[in-house]
Amino acid sequence: KRSSQLALKGMASATKSGRKVKLYANIGGPDDLDMALSNDTEGIGLFRSEFLYMGRSDYPSEEEQFQAYQKVIQGMKGKPVIIRTLDIGADKQADYFEIPQEENPAMGFRAIRICLERVQIFKAQLRAIYRASAFGTTAIMFPMIISLEEIIKIKEIVVEVKEELLAEGISFGQVELGIMIETPAAVMVSDELAREVDFFSIGTNDLTQYTLAIDRQNQSLENYYNPHHKALLRMIEMTVNNAHDAGIWCGICGELAADMEITEQLLCLGVDELSVSPVFILPLRERIRAID
Ligand code: PEP
Ligand code: MG
Repeated sequence: KRSSQLALKGMASATKSGRKVKLYANIGGPDDLDMALSNDTEGIGLFRSEFLYMGRSDYPSEEEQFQAYQKVIQGMKGKPVIIRTLDIGADKQADYFEIPQEENPAMGFRAIRICLERVQIFKAQLRAIYRASAFGTTAIMFPMIISLEEIIKIKEIVVEVKEELLAEGISFGQVELGIMIETPAAVMVSDELAREVDFFSIGTNDLTQYTLAIDRQNQSLENYYNPHHKALLRMIEMTVNNAHDAGIWCGICGELAADMEITEQLLCLGVDELSVSPVFILPLRERIRAID
């Protein structure tokens, strides 16, 4: 089985009718790059940057982050790398952030909410990513978005960062800006959001949690945590349609992207990109190529 999949290296991720799908990898840092490349990934669809912040006692410096991003971007040799900004909080904690104890951390002070309140932390990360963007094709995506106002604020901060870099004579590439669609709110206003960004990536792990009101961490609710729920499929459909109406692409980077029982359905809904753990890339390519 594995040898037949290895033969798919270098082959297109396309259905029999020629419909192409971007098949990208999810990684947690530069250490995962080799795995992604040896499985013939076409890009990095989700670089979970929060891992650079975890398991340590203080913030990673801009320089440290730059080196991590540069390593991945350079290693991908021009193939796209989508870096997700800091998604700390809830299941991913780092003590030095000193986030106050919360009753419901999954619905608490986390991710983009922290970045928009603690702008210096956010700017250090954005500077590191923009600096690294000079070395390849780079995109940034923002987690846990719920409103248009957040995107407007993010873009203002991005403009400041770019102006600062220009003033310092530091070069950077053209960077696409996208958002994760992982809250029901983002789905419902995805028509408006689509007009402000370059792409969408649906985070089905959190979208399932928030749509079904089922804690993704709660093992005893495992039987209720159903990403095939019709509500989720309708949300995916709505998001993809709103993306396409605005002329942008829409992918999936949650675990559902690797679920081969549903690949055909996702393609029928118009999903343009699937970003999965490196080990699933070749099996998923095989699955896509078997679809009519
Ligand atoms: C998601 O929520 O589906 C996602 C891809 O992000 P994470 O699993 O890191 O929350
Ligand atoms: Mg998420």
